[in-house]
Amino acid sequence: MSTSRKDDLIVVAGAGGFIAGALVRYLAERGFTRLRAVDKKPLPEWYQRSPGVECLCLDLSDEANCRRACQDASEVYNLAADMGGMGFIERFRIECLRSILINTHMIEAAYRAGAQRYFFSSSACVYNTDLQKDPQVRALKESDAYPAMAERGYGWEKLMSEMFCQEYWHERGMKTAIARFHNVYGPYGTWDGGREKAPAAICRKVIEAKDRGADSLEIWGDGNQTRSFMYIDDCTRGIDLIMHCDELIATPINLGSSELVSINELVSVAEEIGGVKLKRHYDLDAPQGVAGRNSDNTMIQGILGWHPDTPLRVGLAKTYAWIEQQYMDRKAGKRTVS
Ligand code: NAD
Repeated sequence: MSTSRKDDLIVVAGAGGFIAGALVRYLAERGFTRLRAVDKKPLPEWYQRSPGVECLCLDLSDEANCRRACQDASEVYNLAADMGGMGFIERFRIECLRSILINTHMIEAAYRAGAQRYFFSSSACVYNTDLQKDPQVRALKESDAYPAMAERGYGWEKLMSEMFCQEYWHERGMKTAIARFHNVYGPYGTWDGGREKAPAAICRKVIEAKDRGADSLEIWGDGNQTRSFMYIDDCTRGIDLIMHCDELIATPINLGSSELVSINELVSVAEEIGGVKLKRHYDLDAPQGVAGRNSDNTMIQGILGWHPDTPLRVGLAKTYAWIEQQYMDRKAGKRTVS
């Protein structure tokens, strides 16, 4: 496992968003002194900003902007993408596909800048959808992406961008790292507005119901669909370990929890945290994605001797508390980022 020097210039793309914002904070807390955070969102809309970090507002679908972003970089973490939960990726496939521009230009710019290492945030949506038709799904292992039948739009874009990472290593010798994230949740992420994912959406619905004195909430699908959910602190630690592991160069690997839960169970955990019990209305026409998806962590455990293991109850309590604060702040007329 190699490490970088504390004064290496590290670039994090998508840093106004959830995971990359947390990654910048993780790196700053570990003493890295030259961090450059990049996102197309205006700075006041970033979820987190760490002191002493250079922040650039650039649209990375533009090649010249990618060159500017990667200038002098020693390491580049590319987490910028036009994405959201199922409600977004099922409805806006073209936007998802267009992230290929970001990924194509960023990897080339990183290579031209002479970066030592390049990280790409892939997704469990690359996996063959035929293997995900049952809620009691077999956990997905890395080889299950091929033969390919990825999620339309978003999943195919990720699969193609993984391939870029593999070829930049094989043809040009740039060390690339590829993590396939399974659902990530935690504070400082999207919790409202249409791009939020299930854990944040469910916390918000429970908080809303409590606040309004409602006795029910709406669930997308029949609630039996299953997923695993990884807490954000496990995700940032995993990114660091994967990025600096030479055994994993240009090798896609799962980064996710293997604790399989149904959406109904997720609602029960959120209710327990909120101290309420609500009636459930199921919207069977709402977007719900594949029937089941879980992460097989044999490879990450074998190579890194580690896997994401924050219990859902623990991580969701922290997420719930943060969303509740945002909700109350917004209600009180204070500025929030959703
Ligand atoms: P996010 O939406 O919070 O962050 C993505 C950021 O990228 C946003 O701040 C957005 O403004 C920025 N961005 C979009 N287009 C851009 C552009 N043209 N130029 C510059 N910045 C741009 O999402 P996230 O949850 O933090 O996801 C980060 C990465 O992880 C993405 O690549 C995503 O596909 C991947 N991923 C996330 C999850 C998850 O559960 N959150 C699961 C699988 C994969």
